[in-house]
Amino acid sequence: MKTSILSPGRDENAVQTAAALLKQGEVVGMPTETVYGLAANALDGRAVAKIFRAKGRPQDNPLIVHIADFDQIFDLCPAVPPQAAALAAAFWPGPLTMIVPKGDRIPQEVSCGLDTVGIRLPAHPLARALIRAAGVPLAAPSANTSGRPSTTTAEHVLRDMDGKIAAILDGGACGVGVESTVVSLAGDTPRLLRPGGVTLEQLRAVLGTVEVDRALYETIGADVQVSAPGMKYRHYAPKAPVTVVRGDPQRTAAYIRAHIGSATGVLCFDEYRDWFPTCTVACLGAQDDLAAQARVVFDRLRAFDETSVAQIWAQCPPDEGLGLAVANRIKKAAGFRIIEV
Ligand code: AMP
Ligand code: MG
Repeated sequence: MKTSILSPGRDENAVQTAAALLKQGEVVGMPTETVYGLAANALDGRAVAKIFRAKGRPQDNPLIVHIADFDQIFDLCPAVPPQAAALAAAFWPGPLTMIVPKGDRIPQEVSCGLDTVGIRLPAHPLARALIRAAGVPLAAPSANTSGRPSTTTAEHVLRDMDGKIAAILDGGACGVGVESTVVSLAGDTPRLLRPGGVTLEQLRAVLGTVEVDRALYETIGADVQVSAPGMKYRHYAPKAPVTVVRGDPQRTAAYIRAHIGSATGVLCFDEYRDWFPTCTVACLGAQDDLAAQARVVFDRLRAFDETSVAQIWAQCPPDEGLGLAVANRIKKAAGFRIIEV
């Protein structure tokens, strides 16, 4: 299959062409404000199955369904939990996915046998235009080969998906850079399943109590039943093994410098870029600029695969605000191999 790049800047019919492919049951790379998604008609199980094949995604890892208007949630969910409207008023359109009870229109291919479904209303104008033009909700996981870092440019998507999907709608670089926050409203107490662009502090300001799933802090064995199945798989990992060093940035930089071996890569805050002259250095952004770190973290993790590094040391922000999401992606890339200094 030839994968075409549809660029709204060069082709005024790009969105319509992408929507026509979706209506035919094809898979299209879709820009969103978080990361690129691999979109298919969420109501068509055969189309959704193609997403799993293109990604090599495990069959038990459900997909998020993207809508363009809040009222579409009532078509997909028979009993919308009362907190959903408050969350939508605060954070939609935006980088928040709500897990809610699922209605019959959502095929098993999307929910992977769960009785819940994740729903998100993205803020990216091209994503919303595409959902509207397709005329159906779009199931879309991140547009990367399973296990690799997520994709934040059309070039990243092409690198993983060339020949595997019909088209990529090119919306330039994603603004947030990490995937959506996933919060479950299906239990008694709201539960954070994945940190993302909407912070835990922001969620608590709207919902009061929000529990935090243990998958945020540890690797979960493949045989364990978890709330967000995606959290148990090796994720975001470059080919070379990553070790995270946590603590005061000066101290972590000094620790890394003292442990440099041959063919070493370093993911560090901008302030320390000159500390590792013999290493392949990738800068994560200034240490206090969490938004910049979120925007580039996947690009920097991906870039190591274009080099011959054999090991990677990484600095990482504290678990506060957007830092919780950035740190989660880096820790997962490291398989939770973490040294505290
Ligand atoms: P991705 O599509 O790569 O952004 O991953 C979507 C994430 O949302 C994965 O971690 C999924 O396991 C999680 N997810 C999707 N649907 C559900 C659901 N119904 N219940 C719990 N987690 C879900
Ligand atoms: Mg993903």
